[in-house]
Amino acid sequence: MNKKDIESRRTFAIISHPDAGKTTMTEKLLYFGGAIRDAGTVKGKKTGKFATSDWMEIEKQRGISVTSSVMQFDYDGKRVNILDTPGHEDFSEDTYRTLMAVDAAVMMVDSAKGIEPQTIKLFQVCRMRGIPIFTFMNKMDRQGLEPLELMENLEEVLEIESYAMNWPIGMGKEFAGVIDRYNNRIERARAEENERFIALNEDGEPEVHDAFMDTSYYEQAMEDVMLLNEAGNEFDPERVAKGELTPVFFGSALANFGVQTFLETFLQFAPPPQPRELKSEEMKDPMDDDFSGFIFKIQANMDPRHRDRIAFVRIVSGQFERGMSVHVPRLNKNIKLAQTTQFLADDRETVDTALPGDIIGLYDTGNFQIGDTIIGGKGNYEFAPLPQFTPELFVKVSAKNVMKSKQFHKGIMQLVQEGAIQYYKTLYTEEVMLGAVGQLQFEVFEHRMRNEYNVEVQMQPIGSKVTRWIENEEDVTEAMTGPRSMLVKDRYDNLVFLFENEFALRWFNDKYPDIRLYGLL
Ligand code: GDP
Repeated sequence: MNKKDIESRRTFAIISHPDAGKTTMTEKLLYFGGAIRDAGTVKGKKTGKFATSDWMEIEKQRGISVTSSVMQFDYDGKRVNILDTPGHEDFSEDTYRTLMAVDAAVMMVDSAKGIEPQTIKLFQVCRMRGIPIFTFMNKMDRQGLEPLELMENLEEVLEIESYAMNWPIGMGKEFAGVIDRYNNRIERARAEENERFIALNEDGEPEVHDAFMDTSYYEQAMEDVMLLNEAGNEFDPERVAKGELTPVFFGSALANFGVQTFLETFLQFAPPPQPRELKSEEMKDPMDDDFSGFIFKIQANMDPRHRDRIAFVRIVSGQFERGMSVHVPRLNKNIKLAQTTQFLADDRETVDTALPGDIIGLYDTGNFQIGDTIIGGKGNYEFAPLPQFTPELFVKVSAKNVMKSKQFHKGIMQLVQEGAIQYYKTLYTEEVMLGAVGQLQFEVFEHRMRNEYNVEVQMQPIGSKVTRWIENEEDVTEAMTGPRSMLVKDRYDNLVFLFENEFALRWFNDKYPDIRLYGLL
């Protein structure tokens, strides 16, 4: 195993609110990596190119596919793994868990909108992990918020410090390019390749004059940069690595402006595969010889004729080789990994070897659970568990046919254990409730109950809630509960409040300051 090969790997996810430009950015990156010939291919998959695929119906309808959930390419001597974080209706706990498997994140921001809700949630998961976050302020070819305003918005909403790697000159129709602070040059928009860059001298003055430099927005940009030089944060790679400082790049994914510079700088500062914490609190080092990895996602096949599933493994250490036997400590069982798959942009391919930072897919007939450790060498250790995420959506669920109640409970328990959905129940009547972070999880649940357990379920939506666990359960009284502060139990019989909304939570906090509430991530 070659140390350099491991060090050259960069595994990251792009986080954003829907429509900020994640897909467009991904396409451009794949294009630079030579993984696709035409930018536009990734989107194409959404329009049904997958008709021949035997993947699940929902998958086809929604255009999610295993192939696009992990993409790999080479650039500049680096092996790049991009993990997709499905958003919108496809948002689920898997989206969060994917962030457990990366070493860095790229945050796409729509410059006309600033930081949006879904970005905040995903950012918080990255923050909790302390991974570096690189910001791309997208759509500079459109009129958006003023750049200083965007930086302020970023720092305020996310409570992170920022460093502008470049600064836009104009915006929308007047967008002339950026002052590239990091590389000491101007990068011009709409310029021929050989005229794209204008070097800056020691005083920060351009060495070549161009018409756009006579405009007021150029003057403004130069002024802003001076202000940033004097009063802004310093660029500090160590703070970037800890996730305390986010480098900010202005550009346009659609116009393909600033993407390549971004990619190159990102690959330079994004970390190689990182060590990972074990249950014992020791760290597992990527350079260790013995193979280890953990499962962060399981994708069930929704086609009833195909029961197989794919378990996604992030490799932490050692080398994976096809056909190798691994130990699964939770099951205390050895399993031979014969059928594996690697992810490329254009197709699924059988993988023979893979290294730390890589993601492999294991065909699974029901052995694995999310969070499972798999190890190749001797020893018997497990990785620290993946966090549980605070659900926001709830339904009451029951079997349509009461005669199927045994199958119903068996199915639920298995799907809950697998990590597909969260289990709750009402207090006295013990009606079964399910919690999720995204609607998709309920749909997948319903589908799998029908196809794998032969049970039709009926679900009664309870809507979105603010979920809080309770430190001092013994102090909770009946009087504190009501329609706006419903009390339920989780699968471990812990009491949980489901508040109508943030307002109801605040009201409760004011009224019962002695009850100590907390959310999971
Ligand atoms: P996603 O939902 O985050 O994957 O966003 P998409 O990549 O699908 O982009 C959403 C919309 O914004 C599409 O219509 C894109 O063409 C458009 N878009 C993406 N990047 C840019 C950009 O840099 N400038 C402009 N004007 N539009 C963009």
